[in-house]
Amino acid sequence: MNKLCQVCHLHPFIGVASSSIGAMSVAYCQECANRLAEPEWGFEYLYCYVGYEGDYLADWVDTLTTFKANKYWTWPEWKAWRKQYGPKCPEIPIEDWG
Ligand SMILES: [Zn+2]
Repeated sequence: MNKLCQVCHLHPFIGVASSSIGAMSVAYCQECANRLAEPEWGFEYLYCYVGYEGDYLADWVDTLTTFKANKYWTWPEWKAWRKQYGPKCPEIPIEDWG
Protein backbone atom coordinates (compact mmCIF):
# COMPACT_ATOMS: atom_id res chain seq x y z
CA MET A 1 0.00 0.00 0.00
CA ASN A 2 1.27 3.44 -0.92
CA LYS A 3 1.54 5.43 2.30
CA LEU A 4 2.56 8.73 0.74
CA CYS A 5 0.56 11.93 0.94
CA GLN A 6 -1.77 12.29 -2.03
CA VAL A 7 -1.03 16.01 -2.33
CA CYS A 8 2.77 16.36 -2.29
CA HIS A 9 3.68 12.67 -2.83
CA LEU A 10 6.75 13.32 -0.65
CA HIS A 11 5.85 12.54 2.96
CA PRO A 12 3.97 9.71 4.69
CA PHE A 13 0.34 10.56 5.23
CA ILE A 14 -0.98 11.10 8.76
CA GLY A 15 -4.61 10.44 7.98
CA VAL A 16 -7.38 10.39 5.43
CA ALA A 17 -10.01 13.13 5.47
CA SER A 18 -12.61 14.69 3.27
CA SER A 19 -11.17 17.30 0.96
CA SER A 20 -12.35 20.82 1.79
CA ILE A 21 -13.19 21.13 -1.91
CA GLY A 22 -15.81 18.39 -1.86
CA ALA A 23 -16.76 15.00 -0.50
CA MET A 24 -13.65 13.21 -1.74
CA SER A 25 -11.23 11.32 0.52
CA VAL A 26 -7.60 12.42 0.43
CA ALA A 27 -4.58 11.19 2.42
CA TYR A 28 -2.67 14.20 3.81
CA CYS A 29 0.79 14.54 5.37
CA GLN A 30 1.26 16.93 8.31
CA GLU A 31 2.79 19.66 6.13
CA CYS A 32 -0.02 19.59 3.58
CA ALA A 33 -2.64 19.51 6.35
CA ASN A 34 -1.03 22.55 7.99
CA ARG A 35 -1.03 24.42 4.68
CA LEU A 36 -4.64 23.53 3.75
CA ALA A 37 -3.18 21.92 0.65
CA GLU A 38 -5.36 20.04 -1.82
CA PRO A 39 -4.36 17.85 -4.76
CA GLU A 40 -3.98 19.77 -8.00
CA TRP A 41 -6.89 17.82 -9.51
CA GLY A 42 -9.04 19.49 -6.86
CA PHE A 43 -7.91 22.90 -8.04
CA GLU A 44 -8.64 21.88 -11.62
CA TYR A 45 -12.13 20.79 -10.56
CA LEU A 46 -12.73 24.15 -8.85
CA TYR A 47 -11.34 26.03 -11.82
CA CYS A 48 -13.42 24.42 -14.55
CA TYR A 49 -16.47 22.87 -12.88
CA VAL A 50 -17.32 24.91 -9.78
CA GLY A 51 -16.19 28.38 -10.80
CA TYR A 52 -15.96 29.78 -14.27
CA GLU A 53 -12.30 29.62 -15.32
CA GLY A 54 -11.33 30.09 -11.69
CA ASP A 55 -13.68 33.00 -10.99
CA TYR A 56 -16.94 33.33 -9.02
CA LEU A 57 -15.76 31.19 -6.11
CA ALA A 58 -16.15 31.78 -2.36
CA ASP A 59 -13.48 33.94 -0.72
CA TRP A 60 -12.29 31.06 1.50
CA VAL A 61 -10.94 29.28 -1.60
CA ASP A 62 -8.08 31.83 -1.48
CA THR A 63 -6.88 30.17 1.75
CA LEU A 64 -6.22 26.83 0.02
CA THR A 65 -2.91 25.75 -1.47
CA THR A 66 -1.75 22.97 -3.75
CA PHE A 67 1.64 21.37 -4.34
CA LYS A 68 3.12 21.53 -7.82
CA ALA A 69 6.65 21.63 -9.26
CA ASN A 70 8.13 21.09 -5.80
CA LYS A 71 6.46 24.07 -4.07
CA TYR A 72 3.21 25.15 -2.49
CA TRP A 73 1.00 27.48 -4.51
CA THR A 74 -1.85 29.55 -3.10
CA TRP A 75 -5.11 29.46 -5.04
CA PRO A 76 -4.51 32.98 -6.47
CA GLU A 77 -0.99 31.98 -7.57
CA TRP A 78 -2.18 28.72 -9.14
CA LYS A 79 -5.17 30.40 -10.79
CA ALA A 80 -2.92 33.03 -12.40
CA TRP A 81 -0.62 30.26 -13.68
CA ARG A 82 -3.60 28.24 -14.93
CA LYS A 83 -5.12 31.19 -16.80
CA GLN A 84 -1.83 31.88 -18.56
CA TYR A 85 -0.53 28.38 -19.30
CA GLY A 86 -3.33 25.85 -18.87
CA PRO A 87 -5.65 24.44 -21.52
CA LYS A 88 -9.16 25.77 -22.03
CA CYS A 89 -11.76 24.13 -19.81
CA PRO A 90 -13.80 21.49 -21.63
CA GLU A 91 -17.17 22.74 -22.78
CA ILE A 92 -20.04 20.82 -21.25
CA PRO A 93 -23.06 20.40 -23.54
CA ILE A 94 -26.06 22.08 -21.92
CA GLU A 95 -28.11 18.85 -22.03
CA ASP A 96 -25.57 17.33 -19.60
CA TRP A 97 -26.15 19.96 -16.90
CA GLY A 98 -28.81 17.82 -15.23
ZN1 LIG B 1 1.85 16.27 1.61
